[in-house]
Order: sequence, then C-alpha cells, then structure tokens
Amino acid sequence: MMMNEDRFHGIEILRNVFSELSNYLKEGREVAYSKDTDECEVIGITSLLSCPLKWKYRKEYPEIEFENLEILEGFSFEKELKDVFRIKYGDRFKDEVLVEYKSKNYPIKIEGHIDIQIKDEENKLIVNYELKAPRITYIICDSSKLSYKKFMETDVLIDYDNNCTLVSDKYILQAKIQKLLTELNYPEYKVEQYILIKSLAQYDSYKKKMIIIYPIKESITVEDLEKLIEKFHTDKKPRFKNECNYCPYYNVVCEGVNYEDNTEEVSYNEIDVKQLKELISKYYKLKEKLKMLEHQIKFRIERLPEKKIKYGNKEIGFVEYESISLDVKKIIEKAIENNMIKELCDKNCLIVNWRHKKDLIDKFGEDIIKERKKEVKFNI
Ligand code: SF4
Repeated sequence: MMMNEDRFHGIEILRNVFSELSNYLKEGREVAYSKDTDECEVIGITSLLSCPLKWKYRKEYPEIEFENLEILEGFSFEKELKDVFRIKYGDRFKDEVLVEYKSKNYPIKIEGHIDIQIKDEENKLIVNYELKAPRITYIICDSSKLSYKKFMETDVLIDYDNNCTLVSDKYILQAKIQKLLTELNYPEYKVEQYILIKSLAQYDSYKKKMIIIYPIKESITVEDLEKLIEKFHTDKKPRFKNECNYCPYYNVVCEGVNYEDNTEEVSYNEIDVKQLKELISKYYKLKEKLKMLEHQIKFRIERLPEKKIKYGNKEIGFVEYESISLDVKKIIEKAIENNMIKELCDKNCLIVNWRHKKDLIDKFGEDIIKERKKEVKFNI
C-alpha cells in the first residue's frame, strides 16, 4: 500500500542530512585538471585507462555526475585517512600531488594526482599511497599461508608479494603510472608506491572488513605508457567488459560501444602460473564438495514425507512443474498457411535451432551465412 510521504517527517530530515553529507564528503575531493592548451590536451590517468568517449563527454556535459553510496564511502575513507596523515606527518604530508608526463608522440599531457604523499627530503625518499575502496576484494592465498582463524583476526593485510589478493588490473596499472610519473618528476628521489585498499575481504566463504596494503614494485615503462596514449588517441571504445553499464553517459548521451578484448597490447599484470594452478585445483575441490553437498541434501530430502522443503521463498526438493513442448513444425506450417511469419519474427517468437547449422546451410544455401569467425571459449 502506498503511504502519503508527507507524513514521514523523519524521511525528509534524512534526505537533507544525506545530501549535506554527500557535499561534505566531496569537499576538496574534486581534482582540478589543467585546462587543455593549443599545444596539447590534458588527460588524467583514470581517463587514460577508461573509455576515451567518457573523457570527451565529461568535458561536454560536466553536469552529468555519477554518485552512489560506494563512491561516497570511498570519499569518507579518503577524508578520514588524510586527516590522520596530516596530523601525524605535518609538512612532510601532501595530498593530491600533481605529477605529469608529456607524450613524445602525441599532443597529449598525462596528469596524475597522488592521493597521499610523504616526502622525506633528508633521505630523498617519496612514498605514494593510492587509496581505493572497492565493494569486495578476494583473498586468494593458500590456507597453508593464511588460516581461516588468522583471516578472521586480521584487520590489516600486507600483500608483500602481490600474490595474496585479487586487486584490479586497472588499479595496479594506475599505480604503476603514478610511480613512473613521480620518478620522472622527482629524478633525485627513490619512489615507493602503494595501493591502500579498504574493502570487504572474502576468503572462501568468509567475509570481513579489512585494510589491504598492496606494494607496487615496478613502474610502467615509458614505452608502455606511450602505447596507452596511442590507444587512447586511436581506439575510442570501452576498456573493460560492462564499462558501458557503469557509465553515467550510457543511454543519456551515448548509446554504448561493444567491448573488444585486446589486452595483449599492454601487459597489465603478469600472471603467476603456479598461483593460477592452485586456484584451478581449489575450484575442482570446491566443485567436488558441492557435488557431495548436493548428494547429502538429496539423500535427506528423499526421506521427507513431502520430499521437499521450503527455504526462504524457494521450494527445495522434488517440486512439480508443468512442462510443455510444442510441435514447431506444425506451428510453422500454420504460420505459413496464415501468412504469419513476419508477425512471429516481429514478436521474437520464431527461433531457429542453430545447432542444426549444417542442415540449414544444405537446405537454404551458403548465402544464409552472415559471418564466419574463429572463437575461443572458456572451458573448465
Ligand atoms: S556508454 Fe560506453 S561507449 Fe559510451 S562513453 Fe560510456 S563507456 Fe564509453
């Protein structure tokens, strides 16, 4: 039943509070990038690694913003942490430090903003922290290295060898670019780079909130950075699957473009084959476990008088349902008889069984082939 919203004064109060909270968290967060000049365009690192059309639309439609609770939570994490760094490190602490790189091949300047930087003039050392707050981070190390008990007791996890957590390739690449730009901008300093993540961590079926520290040992090479700039300039498409679905411009000013996977151009993150094999082995063990569980559930359900059980809104067990199969041949004959083929097509009711491709080609000829291409499918 719909209620009259006017009666809920508390809701109105909360609306005002949340809107104020959003403004407060965004305060000082908006990073101002330099304006394009006649000589070159200025691109932020995040834009460089995203669909280039987003960058274009951001300039054309600055009023379109993307905001959700997760983004605001990220801002809140950043604000709190920066305050503590400021108190603890005083003058040595800087935030949103500008680092830049002018492309050798294109009229493009890349600008990065280091979330948190600690500069030690005496020892000629710069420490950069890139802050991230993803919804979830998967912990993938072996139980011989991290027991479940230890996981549940851990608040801060340091992934020294970058093999304990699944951190997004995009985050890693962004941090590698930040490291390079800092090294180029401060050649007399040694640069340490970290990704600092606050996230819900998942380890098998266990979950808990955690801070993850992910050191970035290598910076990107200048050659690889130039390749990314070239790609930004020439290849105006989404950079990852589903980028359009998370894009604020999708269905507003842009219809979206199909994602094409061509990650081989720049290697983001070297794959640890040993670790990959461990994960595959874990997968098979879990699959076995699932099968065993299924057997155990089935065994018990078979012994219930009704042979089924209600679980939430679902019925688990031997549930009756009506299965109908249709005589497709008869339907098509009738459709042809009554000139209804177009109508069926328009309503998406006419479906061809593509498994019988050879028979279809034999029957209708080669010209029914739209495209022939080789595909690689994931199989496990
Ligand atoms: S909708 Fe897709 S193609 Fe368009 S700008 Fe966004 S990510 Fe790029």
